Amino acid sequence: MDYAGFFRSELDALRESGNYRHFAELERRCGAFPRAQFHGGPAADEVTIWCSNDYLGMGQHPDVLAAMHEALDTTGAGAGGTRNISGTTHAHVLLEAELADLHGKEAALLFTSGYVSNWATLGTLGARIPGLTILSDSLNHASMIEGIRHSRADRVIWAHNDLADLEAKLAALPLDAPKLIAFESVYSMDGDIAPIAAICDLAERYNAMTYLDEVHAVGLYGPRGGGIAEREGLMDRITVIEGTLGKAFGVMGGYIAASADLCDFIRSHASGFIFTTALPPAVAAGALASVRHLKASGAERAAHQDRVANLRARLDEIGLPHQENPSHIIPVMVGCPVKCKYITDRLLADYGIYIQPINYPTVPKGTERLRITPSPVHSAAQTDQLVGALEELWAQCQLARLPMAAQ
Ligand code: PMP
Repeated sequence: MDYAGFFRSELDALRESGNYRHFAELERRCGAFPRAQFHGGPAADEVTIWCSNDYLGMGQHPDVLAAMHEALDTTGAGAGGTRNISGTTHAHVLLEAELADLHGKEAALLFTSGYVSNWATLGTLGARIPGLTILSDSLNHASMIEGIRHSRADRVIWAHNDLADLEAKLAALPLDAPKLIAFESVYSMDGDIAPIAAICDLAERYNAMTYLDEVHAVGLYGPRGGGIAEREGLMDRITVIEGTLGKAFGVMGGYIAASADLCDFIRSHASGFIFTTALPPAVAAGALASVRHLKASGAERAAHQDRVANLRARLDEIGLPHQENPSHIIPVMVGCPVKCKYITDRLLADYGIYIQPINYPTVPKGTERLRITPSPVHSAAQTDQLVGALEELWAQCQLARLPMAAQ
């Protein structure tokens, strides 16, 4: 086989289909988020990021940085091993206890990312519970899909957030057969929120466990940042709550929170947990400081919601179509991959604004969009600049505007 030719032609095919991924090389400026240094290309040197998942700017919070510096100076760079072989440090243990408490669960288990936590946990539950059927929401994240596939458990896909379809699919299975309903709270591309209470009702009626990905909600919702399930008083009705430390908490890592036995079961069997080097202790210490801070302080959450509402109102004023949803994610709909790419290229080159275009296959064709994520660290001037730039580019692209609410 011509290996070199194979890779080249596969990549060419990706480019031709428009699905080749270009990464913007950015150096975030600590203390000046959302400003970042942009490397390469004809764009301005300094840019403002409007699509970060560091939703609250915790990646530059003084408590987080101090905890990381201290851990780095006292314990060194890496964990030095897997959790099983010399890699479990005090910071890991404290962080797991803090996360268990955050979600009102007996225990929590850390992984190196949210992706790994979904993949390893669903993979292990599906492979190890005899006869388990996993009922998966059709818009679940790739990490859940891959974990379920990898487990080789029976898989039933139910239509996104569709309770009638979920119920029909539950009812078609024997009542005493083991079942797990896997879903998310805030869906990352549309920003819609699952009807968690009603899903719990169905799970209880049909004798199913529940697995809830709160990656886009932890730190952001609930009185202590425990996510949508905390806000809605549903944490004790969810079997497994999964989260990330890499988005609102601003650091890195993933976790599950569940009963002590379920966590112990995953700890004992999940290869994605067992056979990999533990998170660096400084990362665990930084995440711990972030979780503790956001548990005690609602100020960042309030400021976040305020910025989101403000940007939505500003977009309404100029008639830019954005998908209504009850979360912090603002999908501004372009509906054309070429225009979407053009707008983001121009934003970067002419205005120093970085937003990654979201095109097919991440979202369905015809729903290409800008996924905008305002944060408490965006200033009023930066918001004005973004709104002005979008208004100009919308006109350049002759994109439709909604009737202006202000008129
Ligand atoms: N679940 C969902 C819904 C996600 O959007 C993501 C990441 N984009 C993950 C899990 C993975 O989390 P992490 O980035 O911590 O690996």
